[in-house]
Amino acid sequence: MSRADIKVGFACNNRCVFCAQGHKRRDIGFIDAAELAGRMRKAFAPGRGLVLTGGEPTIRRDLVKLVALARAIGYAPIQVQTNGRMLAYAPLVDRLMRAGVTEFSPALHGSTAAVHDALTAAPGAFDQTVAGIENVARAGGLLLTNTVVVRDNLSCLEDTIRLLGSLGVRQAQLALVHPVGTAGELYDDIVPPIDEAAEAMARAIRAGRELSMRVVTEAVPPCLLPGLEDAVVEERIPDTTVVDLDGELFGFSTWRTDEGKAKGPRCGECTRDQSCEGPWREYPERFGWDAYRPMA
Ligand code: SF4
Repeated sequence: MSRADIKVGFACNNRCVFCAQGHKRRDIGFIDAAELAGRMRKAFAPGRGLVLTGGEPTIRRDLVKLVALARAIGYAPIQVQTNGRMLAYAPLVDRLMRAGVTEFSPALHGSTAAVHDALTAAPGAFDQTVAGIENVARAGGLLLTNTVVVRDNLSCLEDTIRLLGSLGVRQAQLALVHPVGTAGELYDDIVPPIDEAAEAMARAIRAGRELSMRVVTEAVPPCLLPGLEDAVVEERIPDTTVVDLDGELFGFSTWRTDEGKAKGPRCGECTRDQSCEGPWREYPERFGWDAYRPMA
């Protein structure tokens, strides 16, 4: 299976301190609807799914129409990647599902308003996102949540997973922050040492398993998750084509493995060398390769 990730613009009602698109958010708003329609047609292939992403898709007034067009083109499944705040309006959830959304991927970055609202720089965001998740669960929509793992939420990752479980989420992703964009600018404040992040993520995976949730991780190689290697999501990510600001089709999967991620001097000794992508290259560039020990 393959999927197209189409960015519908970069405007957002959050100001996340770890945003990989933060530099675009400051300068670029929405992409024109007619232009987006052309991009959706160009990126389509039989059997291809679609992720509408940004920026924040749900603050577009025409999102329901875009979803209906995506369904008419033939995309399936159709996912909306969102900060989840607008989903607090239950009628919007219903309209999106009727138009063709099959998956919602809201982002919750902490177990409390204090943590989440500080990371998103948006007072009230936590309450809205939680309400949004509840609305999707009540409507019977599929929820695949995302939590970006940074220094300031390591201590509450387990509680975040437990909270998501209590809201009806069955599948949650913990994505180690990619230190580019705003996160790259604020590297020392945002990016946790990878071994500390992996330990906190392992505890959260186990907490999710106690609740029969499927918790997966992104950007943490299997050597850092001993006994939990099956949580590593990279081996299962569909081949992804991204349509970014310039409208060109960009082979993101190839870029991710060939340029975005890096392998270390001892990875050739590792039994997972063929399937492992390694970490985002900005981690070993700053912290070195000592934490990545070949698996037997
Ligand atoms: S290939 Fe390298 S980064 Fe991947 S699991 Fe093995 S040692 Fe770790």
